[in-house]
Amino acid sequence: MSKPLVAITGASSGIGAETARAFASAGHPVLMMAQRLERMKAMRLPDSMCRKVDVRDRNQIRGAVDDAERKYGPVDMMFANAGIARLADLGRQPPEEWDEMIDINTKGVMNTVHAVLHGMMERQCGTLVMMSSIAGRKVYPDHAVYCGTKFFVHAVSESIREFLSDYNVRVLVVSPGVIETEVLSGVLDQKTLEAYKKNKAAMGGGIGADIVGKLILDAYQLPQKALVQEICLTPTRQRY
Ligand code: NDP
Repeated sequence: MSKPLVAITGASSGIGAETARAFASAGHPVLMMAQRLERMKAMRLPDSMCRKVDVRDRNQIRGAVDDAERKYGPVDMMFANAGIARLADLGRQPPEEWDEMIDINTKGVMNTVHAVLHGMMERQCGTLVMMSSIAGRKVYPDHAVYCGTKFFVHAVSESIREFLSDYNVRVLVVSPGVIETEVLSGVLDQKTLEAYKKNKAAMGGGIGADIVGKLILDAYQLPQKALVQEICLTPTRQRY
């Protein structure tokens, strides 16, 4: 029997790309969404649909989901993963960086959830995977707004986990520490970037994004009545 459709935002690199690979290897059709279409197509995953989507535009996400569902059936897992980390302390950060982070990391996550929420409620089945961070559990002085966006994801996830429990829909929060991806390309403040790299080197580097993808797949493959509420995964040597 064919496996259900899964959908992933931010599937063009890093954790989203590795999660797409993990689910495709397990036989799922995958809807991949991000702005860099060619990067997703180049992965050549079987049964995949790649869509150029900016998560700030809820019509684009809705349109991509509609197209994929017409071909593969309902989305059974949505990974609201797309995000950027414009890390800087508030004394140095230009407000445009807050706008961008808040729009992508909070409103973008809500747009992503909204595209599949009512279908999952009607079917009384489905899994929402919400990308937070270790920075959604604790604060860092030079990550103020990034932490704010990830605390937002934590709060919304906990609220909708309780709400959706009556509908048999699972909500899993992913809170990684330092993972080797392209995320640092979003850090424009050199002082913060240098401090981050120094801390990362002191812990012996980050861990592979494939480990995150595999853990999400493992959690998803549990019976629908079993929910891993949070995956908090860091390098062993990451102290804070
Ligand atoms: P990457 O930079 O490799 O991936 C980010 C992904 O988000 C890309 O696919 C990018 O695609 C996509 N994206 C960014 N903006 C938009 C947008 N407006 N619309 C659609 N897609 C968008 O980094 P990661 O894999 O590390 O990041 C994934 C998530 O993991 C983020 O939410 C990040 O905050 C979180 N995270 C990462 C950690 C780490 O150490 N790496 C730790 C904790 C959390 P494109 O540019 O093609 O649109």
